[in-house]
Amino acid sequence: MNSLDTRLGTLRGPARPLPHSARTLAALTANPACDRRSVIDAAGIDKDALATHLGTPGPVRKSQLALRFGLAFEDRVLGRDHAELVRLLRETLGLDLADVAYEDLNRVATDQERSTPTLRHIRTRSLIISAATGLAPPRTVLNHPVLRLPVAGHPVYLEPDVLAFHHDGTFHVVEIKSFPVIHGQADPVSVNAALTQAAAYILALRDILADEGLSPECVSDDIVLINPLNFTQRPTATRQSARRQVNSLRFHLDRLRRLPELLDHLPTGTSLDLAPDPEGKPTRPRRDLAASLARLPAHYTPRCRHHCDLAVYCRDEARSRNRTEALGTAVREDIAGITTTTTALALVDGHIHPSDAQEDITRALRHAQRLYDDLQAGSA
Ligand code: SF4
Repeated sequence: MNSLDTRLGTLRGPARPLPHSARTLAALTANPACDRRSVIDAAGIDKDALATHLGTPGPVRKSQLALRFGLAFEDRVLGRDHAELVRLLRETLGLDLADVAYEDLNRVATDQERSTPTLRHIRTRSLIISAATGLAPPRTVLNHPVLRLPVAGHPVYLEPDVLAFHHDGTFHVVEIKSFPVIHGQADPVSVNAALTQAAAYILALRDILADEGLSPECVSDDIVLINPLNFTQRPTATRQSARRQVNSLRFHLDRLRRLPELLDHLPTGTSLDLAPDPEGKPTRPRRDLAASLARLPAHYTPRCRHHCDLAVYCRDEARSRNRTEALGTAVREDIAGITTTTTALALVDGHIHPSDAQEDITRALRHAQRLYDDLQAGSA
């Protein structure tokens, strides 16, 4: 164990670390400025357990109904000998039906082995290298592959839905998502999240090829995104570019090398340990836990509720400190350089003098105050 592991272990306490996944990696890019989340995820700390113990459970999760719909949809795409998948890949990638051969990586492992991804990763890696070097006939479609990506010095195992190996020598990631495409349009936030998850798979695939001295360019930036069409379970596929998400994720993974620097700023002995009793019930005093959490700088935005279990806690914290980010990203950007509403109000009423950098925004705020006062007077 290196010193970084030891420091992250001290922060986490004796709980088992939670591994990263494509979803948590995608969340990294959703709020890259948040050091709190970077450190907590690197330490593998259970954010949901933290938020629950602090009395601010995370935003509502997917309903059981939605989860069941998602599983049924995936079955529909991959079932019946992949009939729907083949149709969709032929339409989007031009795969000839005769080219389609499968390998289900779940079949190489026993139930017990399936719970540890190493064996499926070794097999996945071997199939990918064979396909890329032409040493073996390529498996055109790999189901349940397992990829590996180093994150802050630790291997993270990732499980894409499907990898398709095009007959012209290009790999494509295939993502099956249960959010619908309605009249040709899908929710852009959901599409971006799916592309960011796919970006993690693309980087992991490229790492395998680069390790073998093969060209990472064999892995396309384009992914095949499969969704239900309109309000049915009939699947439809679109080819989407994940280039922007790949670049963004690579940037943020590189940034995780700053972890030692972030940890250097924490007072010695800072811990987010919940100190569970023998029944697993947390005993750590909330005030004490909150004080430790406050030492990790947060960067709250209202979009945190889409991707982070600590969203309610961080929102309340931002409000209690009169932070401008609690009012939304637009407000924070409009009055950039002024971090609290207390400062903004003091600038407006002249209790503090603006710095050179604050003069323009102070004039704008005073103008807004005059308009507001006029409107109030007019409606009285
Ligand atoms: S909810 Fe809090 S910890 Fe999570 S990303 Fe937002 S600011 Fe960071």
